[in-house]
Amino acid sequence: MPSYTATGLVLHRLNTGETDKILTLYTREQGKLSAIAKGVRKAGNRISGATELFTETRFLLATGKSLEVVQQAEIQQTFPGIRLDLDKMARATYLCELLDRLTAESDALQSAEIYDLTLSALYLLQRTDSYPDAVVHAYELRLLAAIGYAPALENCARCGEPLQGRQVGFSPAIGGALCNADRYRADDAHPLSFDALKLLQTLASTEPEQLLSLQPAPRTAGEVVRAMRWYIRYRSDRDLKSLTFLDTLRMTP
Ligand SMILES: [Zn+2]
Repeated sequence: MPSYTATGLVLHRLNTGETDKILTLYTREQGKLSAIAKGVRKAGNRISGATELFTETRFLLATGKSLEVVQQAEIQQTFPGIRLDLDKMARATYLCELLDRLTAESDALQSAEIYDLTLSALYLLQRTDSYPDAVVHAYELRLLAAIGYAPALENCARCGEPLQGRQVGFSPAIGGALCNADRYRADDAHPLSFDALKLLQTLASTEPEQLLSLQPAPRTAGEVVRAMRWYIRYRSDRDLKSLTFLDTLRMTP
């Protein structure tokens, strides 16, 4: 079996057989792939720690018939600040599910960019304090941009005119924000305040460090949660499982 090394994050794990796990990995070199880790559920297994979620691991993988086979795994870094905080862990779980949902296996085209984006989001999530959803939405918007589905936020998605007024429209089907003339022509357009549009623009483009100092009004932050949910639901056909739990946490003061 030919083997190769890849640095990756575990997005999903599934128990199989007596002691094995099937891992969904997102690797910097190859993008998303599935690999079987044999014997990792045995007590004292050497590499079980390297197959935890939110862990950056250097893998030695062999190409198997249907799945890659993990031969060695060495932890590069863990994110203890995420594991010890329920709010952050729920968000990190969502980011991993989103990455899994929006990418296909064997597509390495943007894998280095997407991998670095994901790692950066985990770093920021460790450090974020008052507005952790800044990291979530910035990641959503940048991941969508990397795969070619960024919502239009600067100009009307339909006519291309600059957006103005106290309220604009937002339509997942048309592809983002709509001017006041076009918002009534789209079946699925929801109103979006100009403050929420500005926040979305900032989240899409600001430097990662600046995300940590954003403190939007709760009402504006809530609008952005809803707009991104509509948009991602449209792109991925359904809500993500991890969102239900995240919503519960968002509603808990
Ligand atoms: Zn327009």
